[in-house]
Amino acid sequence: MDLKQYVTIVPDFPKPGIMFKDITTIMDKGEVYKYATDQIVQYAREKKIDLVVGPEARGFIIGCPVAYALGVGFAPVRKEGKLPREVVRVEYGLEYGKDVLTMHKDAIKPGQRVLITDDLLATGGTIEATIKLVEQLGGVVAGIAFLIELTYLEGRKKLEGYDILTLMQF
Ligand code: 5GP
Repeated sequence: MDLKQYVTIVPDFPKPGIMFKDITTIMDKGEVYKYATDQIVQYAREKKIDLVVGPEARGFIIGCPVAYALGVGFAPVRKEGKLPREVVRVEYGLEYGKDVLTMHKDAIKPGQRVLITDDLLATGGTIEATIKLVEQLGGVVAGIAFLIELTYLEGRKKLEGYDILTLMQF
């Protein structure tokens, strides 16, 4: 299946000059969403993962069906102040200013093999921060899976040494 035809490119969202890749037109078609999910499930099986971890909000959309298909757990990465119990936190740079991502302290058992998921790899900042959280908690990042990679932003350079699957490249 050619997944790319189901991505909607939205010019000037959320800011002028940005060509936003809208993946909701993959998700709203059962067969297409299932096809994309199945590719990641197969990859996760090969990597023998124990747990899926994804950043809010679109990391959940990709990661939760994969966790369900494998019968493993899903642990959310959220912005500061959203998780109700004790967390670990990582600050990461945005284009303007800083943001913070958190995970519950007991979300990962040391040594667990983790698959990180998100919809799109741009500069890699979000996933770099997510890797730090997983590793702080003693998890092993066994693989990272995205629907889309914006190759011209070279996010892979930030994630060197990690195994990455991307289903589409722009
Ligand atoms: P990065 O941290 O790699 O620079 O940015 C990736 C994050 O920004 C992802 O969590 C992703 O959801 C979001 N993002 C950035 N650009 C786009 C886009 O064009 N489409 C979608 N769906 N998400 C984007």
